[in-house]
Amino acid sequence: MQNSFLPNGSLPVQDSDKIVEGINRIQNKFDTVIATKDWHPQGHKSFASSHPGKNAFESIELNDGSPQILWPDHCEQDTAGAEFVANLETKKFTATVYKGLDLEIDSYSGFFDNMRSFKTELDDILNEHGITDIYITGVALDVCVKYTALDGVFLNYKVFVIEDLTKPVTEEGKKQALYEFGLNGIKVIQSSQIN
Ligand code: ZN
Repeated sequence: MQNSFLPNGSLPVQDSDKIVEGINRIQNKFDTVIATKDWHPQGHKSFASSHPGKNAFESIELNDGSPQILWPDHCEQDTAGAEFVANLETKKFTATVYKGLDLEIDSYSGFFDNMRSFKTELDDILNEHGITDIYITGVALDVCVKYTALDGVFLNYKVFVIEDLTKPVTEEGKKQALYEFGLNGIKVIQSSQIN
């Protein structure tokens, strides 16, 4: 939950501000809470502004052949856009995992970059804590939440997505994400189901 993704941010996710209180509330039900942060260098290749003549939300192929949707500039390192939203409770965070630091490749998942060539420390942190089940909230459901969930399964975690505490970039993307969750054994639950 970073400022760039608020409804008035540079990469707005509709109603993302509405899930912050719920995310704060359920943190107390978990032993370990880990945040991720998009943490892009200036001129990141996921930014439309890094590709003259291209527009945000167009798809291109990067130098390494990976497909890339171009986004508005967002979550640049050490800018207000990259900060956690002001009303997010951060006291319970065991760790913050930074992703998308490599200029050349994007990282939707909290576990790997988009080519699975670089692994963040998230898997190691979870292993250190003996964690087998992960519950994912936040934005965007159809991008970072989706790929974190899929990589979680890839790494043999039992994965839950708390649907009412996520928001998608598009409704169509949400439909696709829910379909892929079903195919991959990812459980979609509501925050009211967490005791
Ligand atoms: Zn990003």
